[in-house]
Amino acid sequence: MLLMYILIALMLGSVGSILLASALLLLSKSKLELVSTYLISVAGGTLLGAAFLGMIPKAIQVLQKPELALGLTLSGIILFFVVEKFILWRSCGNKECERYNSASAPLILLGDALHNFIDGIIITAAFFTSVEFGVIVTLTVFAHEIPQELADFGVLIHNGYSKKKALKFNLISGLTTLVGGLLAYVVLETAERLIPFVLSFSAASFIYIALADLVPQMHSKTKLTDSIIQLLLILLGVLIIYLIKRV
Ligand SMILES: [Zn+2]
Repeated sequence: MLLMYILIALMLGSVGSILLASALLLLSKSKLELVSTYLISVAGGTLLGAAFLGMIPKAIQVLQKPELALGLTLSGIILFFVVEKFILWRSCGNKECERYNSASAPLILLGDALHNFIDGIIITAAFFTSVEFGVIVTLTVFAHEIPQELADFGVLIHNGYSKKKALKFNLISGLTTLVGGLLAYVVLETAERLIPFVLSFSAASFIYIALADLVPQMHSKTKLTDSIIQLLLILLGVLIIYLIKRV
């Protein structure tokens, strides 16, 4: 039963978000940008909420060693910084961004594949904690993947890919979510004591995406109304996690 939940969640987090993103491409450009901006803020809130209200407390509770749990999260954040330096971890959809123009499409897909692989591990680890927490994390992955996939489509098409080809390659890189998730299933099923370690590390991934990838995109808008909307949407994201956790 658990495996079935995990499989559905992995499909939703990968193929589901990619298909929804490609459907959103049918919207007009201005509408698309609006949806994308709003989603980025909500996703930022859900990522931080899931990390600070879910993963870290759970890891501390199981490990009984706050320094160990938080030390792992800290190491993870530093590791993600290093990885992002060498691989194009997340692409930026902004045309002024240096990477947007210099990045080669295969490298973007590789970085994306690696990221999706980790998302898969995170989803599975969350389901091993509880089904309820698995649902929370799947929603969180879903929320940040849609604007990300939209940005990826933009970069690939900018690099001369047809829409069809961009979709095909995005789906292939999305399948690594399944690979990561199933691999984690096999490993965590036999080594349950690894779960809190994976959760600490997962928290680092979520915090890093929120603060290093999404927040800079939010800061590209500086108008007061935009900023207030962003703040409210971040809080909404946190609130969603808080409320689901309480149910
Ligand atoms: Zn992701």
